[in-house]
Amino acid sequence: MLIDGKAIAATIQKEIKDTIEQLPGRKPCLAVILVGNHAPSQIYVRRKTEACAEVGIISIKRELPPTIAEDHLLQEVKQLNNDPAVDGILVQLPLPYHINPMHVINSIDPLKDVDGFHPINVGKLLSGDRDGFIPCTPLGIKVMLERMEVEVAGKHVLVIGRSNIVGKPMAALLMQNQSFGNATVTIAHRHSTQLKQLCQMSDIVIIAIGKPHFLTADMVKEGAVIIDVGINKIADSSKKSGYRIVGDVDFPNVKKKCRYITPVPGGVGPMTIAMLLQNTLQSFQNQDE
Ligand code: NAD
Repeated sequence: MLIDGKAIAATIQKEIKDTIEQLPGRKPCLAVILVGNHAPSQIYVRRKTEACAEVGIISIKRELPPTIAEDHLLQEVKQLNNDPAVDGILVQLPLPYHINPMHVINSIDPLKDVDGFHPINVGKLLSGDRDGFIPCTPLGIKVMLERMEVEVAGKHVLVIGRSNIVGKPMAALLMQNQSFGNATVTIAHRHSTQLKQLCQMSDIVIIAIGKPHFLTADMVKEGAVIIDVGINKIADSSKKSGYRIVGDVDFPNVKKKCRYITPVPGGVGPMTIAMLLQNTLQSFQNQDE
C-alpha cells in the first residue's frame, strides 16, 4: 500500500493554517537565506516560501551573491537572530566552497534553528530532550509513520545513509526510549558490507543515499515498510523536460512485496516542507510563551 505523503502533508498544512488564522496578533515568520545561484536550491527555497504563504507564515528571503564573505553571511544571520519579528531562520545548503557550513549553522540562534541542525538541537535530540528542533525530513517520516499507525517499537529498522540531515537524526529518533522510538536500529553507509542481508532482516527500511533504483525487490523482506527519501533525476525522453524524478527504490518491483511504501515524488518530500512550517509555528509559540 502506498503512503500518500502529499495527502498527509496537506492535512498537516491545513491544521497549521487553521491555527495561524486563530492567532490574534502577529503571525509567525520564517527567514530564508539563499547564497549563490545553485538551481536546485532556488527551487527548494521557492517551494518553502510558497508553502509559508499557503498557511499564513510570513517569509523573508535574503538572496546573497555566491562571492559573499563568510563574515558577511554571519552578520546577516546575527541580524536575523536579533530580530524579534523572526521566528525561524533557515540557511539553504549547500553553501559555496569558501564558506564553512558549520560556522554558519553554529551562528544560528538554536531557538530559531527550525532546520534542527545546530549542535544544541542535535544534542537535545540525542539525549532525548524534547525541547529542541528535530530536522524536518526525519521528523516528517516520524509523523507519516505515526499517522499510518506503523509501530516502530521492537522493530528492526535499517537506515541506509548517515547524513547529518537525514540518516543520523532518523536513527537517533528511532532509538529513543519515547513513544515513537524503541526500535532496534542499524545504520548502513557506503562502507557497509552485507547490505542485502541487513535489508532482508529489516521490518522497516529508510533509504537516503541518492542512487536511483538502488533498493531492489530481492533485498526486501515480504511485508516490510519502505521509506524512500532519495530524489534523483533520470533521463526520460517521454517528458517535456527530458527527465523525471525517482527515488532510491526500484519502486514498481519493491511495492509488490511490501506492506507500505512511499512514492517519489509525493512521499517524504511534501512531509519535509510541512515539518518546516510546523517547526516555524512551534518556534513562534515558544517565543510567545
Ligand atoms: P548525502 O548525499 O549527504 O550522503 C549520502 C549517504 O549515502 C552517505 O551517508 C553515504 O555513506 C550513503 N551511501 C552512498 N552510497 C551508498 C551505498 N552504495 N550503500 C550504502 N550507503 C550509501 O545524503 P542526504 O543529504 O541525506 O541525501 C540523500 C538523498 O536524499 C538525496 O537523493 C537527497 O536529494 C535526498 N533528500 C531528500 C529529502 C526529502 O525531503 N525528500 C531531504 C533530504 C535529502
